[in-house]
Amino acid sequence: ELGTPTAWTRSTCPYCGVGCEFLVGTRDGKITQVKPALDAPVNKGHLCVKGRYAFAYNDAPDRVTRPMIRRDGEWQAVSWDEAIAFVAAELKRIRETHGPDSIGILGSARATNEENYLAQKFARVVIGSNNVDCCARVCHAPSAVALAQVFGTGAATSAFDDIELAQTFLLAGTNTTENHPVVGARIKQARRRGARLIVVDPRKTELAGWADIHLALRPGTDIPLFHAMARVILEENLTDPAFLAERVEGLGAFREAIAEWTPERAAEVCGVSAEAIRQAARLYATHKPSICFHGLGLTEHHQGSETVMALANLALLTGNVGQPGTGVNPLRGQNNVQGSAHMGCEPNTLTGSQPLAKARAHFEQLWGCPLPTTKGLNLMQMLDAARKGHLKALWLFGYDVLLSNPDAAHTAQAFERLELVVVQDLFMNESARAYGHVFLPAASNFEKDGTFMNSERRIQRVRQALPPAGDSRPDWQILCDVARAMGQGERFAFEGPEAIWEEVRAVWPGGAGISYARLEQGGLQWPCPSLDHPGTPRLHAQSFPAGPRATLAAVPYVPSPEQPSPEYPFVLITGRTLYAFNAGTMTARTPNTRLYPTDRLEVSPSDAECLGLREGERVRVVSPYGEARLPVHITQRVKPGELFSTFHDPDVFINRLTNPHRDRYTLTPQYKRTAVRLEKL
Ligand code: SF4
Repeated sequence: ELGTPTAWTRSTCPYCGVGCEFLVGTRDGKITQVKPALDAPVNKGHLCVKGRYAFAYNDAPDRVTRPMIRRDGEWQAVSWDEAIAFVAAELKRIRETHGPDSIGILGSARATNEENYLAQKFARVVIGSNNVDCCARVCHAPSAVALAQVFGTGAATSAFDDIELAQTFLLAGTNTTENHPVVGARIKQARRRGARLIVVDPRKTELAGWADIHLALRPGTDIPLFHAMARVILEENLTDPAFLAERVEGLGAFREAIAEWTPERAAEVCGVSAEAIRQAARLYATHKPSICFHGLGLTEHHQGSETVMALANLALLTGNVGQPGTGVNPLRGQNNVQGSAHMGCEPNTLTGSQPLAKARAHFEQLWGCPLPTTKGLNLMQMLDAARKGHLKALWLFGYDVLLSNPDAAHTAQAFERLELVVVQDLFMNESARAYGHVFLPAASNFEKDGTFMNSERRIQRVRQALPPAGDSRPDWQILCDVARAMGQGERFAFEGPEAIWEEVRAVWPGGAGISYARLEQGGLQWPCPSLDHPGTPRLHAQSFPAGPRATLAAVPYVPSPEQPSPEYPFVLITGRTLYAFNAGTMTARTPNTRLYPTDRLEVSPSDAECLGLREGERVRVVSPYGEARLPVHITQRVKPGELFSTFHDPDVFINRLTNPHRDRYTLTPQYKRTAVRLEKL
């Protein structure tokens, strides 16, 4: 019995990209209850099992609340002064010996917008390098690139309120009811009122069971599918001719590029029926307004960016963008993943996703110092550089890279060569345990102020409900402390998150109108350029940022390098469950583990029968890159020849066997398709 709360604080859920607002109930310095904010515009009085019940991590017994330095292989608790001085001295030494580009900084969605803003400012101003990135790299970086290329803005085009206005949903590579449950529930409600539903997913997800058409394609064959749908739309004159004429260009080249993708040809490659492709195309194009939501099932492939472009083409052909109930919308994996990248934690952009080359001079003026001109490395390139001995130091904020990156043996080789690994987190995560040199205990989302940015571009307040546990400190404060110790105190002299946000507003024209005072009345969606601007729920109503027209993307299809073979006959997909979150760092320390104690491997009944597998039996899954052991769950949700596993349990560590292939544009890993074999233990 946790007791009735004596105080309530309104804040924002730290988990998925829906960004629900909740009330945090506290008593005697502990969280005793979380309940939904009934008037919240996003969640409208609802929360899922993670937001509502998975808060016990905050005072888990193994929470690290004192700074630590590893000496002679042993972690030793030290004072903050000692830890800050050590990090500052090591960063200085490495910068002087190997140059600023031997250091990399990784922000993350666990940190607020204010903290991610400071992380990239620290990299550029204090270290002097553009080597800064964040967890968007392994998530929706392809969506950002693709949507920026097609529409001109690398973000969701619509608001969640468009769900209630849509007549047809095209859900691609998103298991929405498990990964974005409150949005999944809103889509279910829309289905109940008569909206139509197309689900593109290799697995029979819950919403696939609700769908008019479920296109259970082979993993990573979405481009042929979308091209074939586009071909049907063009052939059967189902386009929006006025929209095409006024707002779209590149139709000739696009027609040519997709000419080969008849529904029959796509059906062969995708493993779905040509008739189902035709029906899906007709439904999406005619039962309007139609809206797309997509998840990592599209982006985490070697053609992730091009796949999202192929999806966006359908919206352009049919005029399903910029109008109520339409759009193309990435569902971000974590609440603040959009914010971490948008604040500038990317090697090639500054705050507000302003291209570095274009915005550098302006930022130099604002920050009062020269900025690095060398090209920065993204996360994957940082690991490659570390493996080659070029990168020497990595500072991680709330991000367990070792556990969550694919092909873990490769990641480990990179960490082994680093001279300095600074881990800033709540717990001794796998990266810290194996390779950390310094551990800086961070305050949790319940213990700090700031803002998050959800999948629909809404900035919302994160409010402190409790003091930081033990000696832990908010990420922003730690960054300012180290900057001061490295002689840059003046540029990091912030009294608190609101002062940092004021600087963000000064450097980011699209967010200039979003003040803390206004956020007291509720979240605001950018662009919101002035204090009297109401925010922008829907983008591209009249034009696209680059002009009146957007260009159809004539993208090729290149089969994945991961193909099943006699030695590795199955295709493994990885993903999340409703009850757990990412590397499990938070949810594994909550009662949610009773609902989902460990990762499990979904196997089809026919494959289980062929292999003589029983429910719950442990198996070894082997790929060319590594192996993992976990229990089997026999289910019709996966097709014969395909397997699905979650990746939350460090004891299973499924990323030991995921593959090294990457998206051709963003280097985002291809988590969703690895050829493997199964062995009985
Ligand atoms: Fe949190 Fe997402 Fe669940 Fe909402 S739907 S409570 S944001 S995990």
